[in-house]
Amino acid sequence: MFAYVTLVTNADYRLGALALARSLRGVGSEWPLVILATESAGSLAEHEAEGCLVERVAQPVLSREFRDRHERSALHARAPYTKGNKPAFHDPLDNFCKLSVWQLTRYRRVVFLDADTLVIKNIDKLFGYPEFSAAPNLYETLADMHRLNSGVFVAAPNEETHVAMLERLDIPDVFWRRTDQTFLESYFPDWHGLPYTYNALQYVYFNLPKMWRWSSIKVVHYQYEKPWQENHPKADKLQPLIDLWHAVLNGKPVPPDLPDPC
Ligand code: UDP
Ligand code: MN
Repeated sequence: MFAYVTLVTNADYRLGALALARSLRGVGSEWPLVILATESAGSLAEHEAEGCLVERVAQPVLSREFRDRHERSALHARAPYTKGNKPAFHDPLDNFCKLSVWQLTRYRRVVFLDADTLVIKNIDKLFGYPEFSAAPNLYETLADMHRLNSGVFVAAPNEETHVAMLERLDIPDVFWRRTDQTFLESYFPDWHGLPYTYNALQYVYFNLPKMWRWSSIKVVHYQYEKPWQENHPKADKLQPLIDLWHAVLNGKPVPPDLPDPC
């Protein structure tokens, strides 16, 4: 038993997950999409009607000190985002709900996908990959290759792992500057690298255009600004990707002739 998994904690990411679900159907994926949803996510009836499975989750129990260090304004002040903008609806503490993935023990392997991703080619073969597999955080320079991006990863749910993670997460004075991403990189220091095409970050499109080749891209990840945000600061540079996201949300297939930026 395998499953794709995403996370939704509010109405904005709920819309993202709907586009993601439609993209998975579009590539003929064999496995369901499980949506980890907090109470604040609201109703996911529309997603369920399209075959998604909803699993209610909550933020892990976190100490007051941990929350104070990682809540939005404190985190942005201590570790500013200099390359792009996080939308106002992004709550860094909600990112830690991703650890609930390890509680989905009825699945032998899961592929986690952020709610701001689109699957544009079938990636079912990832269920044969080991824990913990992830693609690099490539969006500007080769130095980015040292880091993983936690928007796409392969995991093996296991309650012992989940407990061990929670023990490691909230320790005195710890600061996970990029939340779950920094934590997962620390928890799995010898993570397996997937090709960047399994998690093509949207900034590659304008920062490293020679690396953007539609024929090899499997997952598009709209990191930083989201395609459903109106007139965001990078929108002019990303218009073809934004148009693609809206097309998929509206149930249209991925056009076969998308032009490469170079
Ligand atoms: N997320 C969420 N609510 C939040 C923050 C994050 O549901 O307030 C989930 C959602 O699935 C999202 C993922 O966690 O795609 C990671 O956040 P985001 O994609 O905005 O981060 P980025 O990819 O820009 O670093
Ligand atoms: Mn994301």
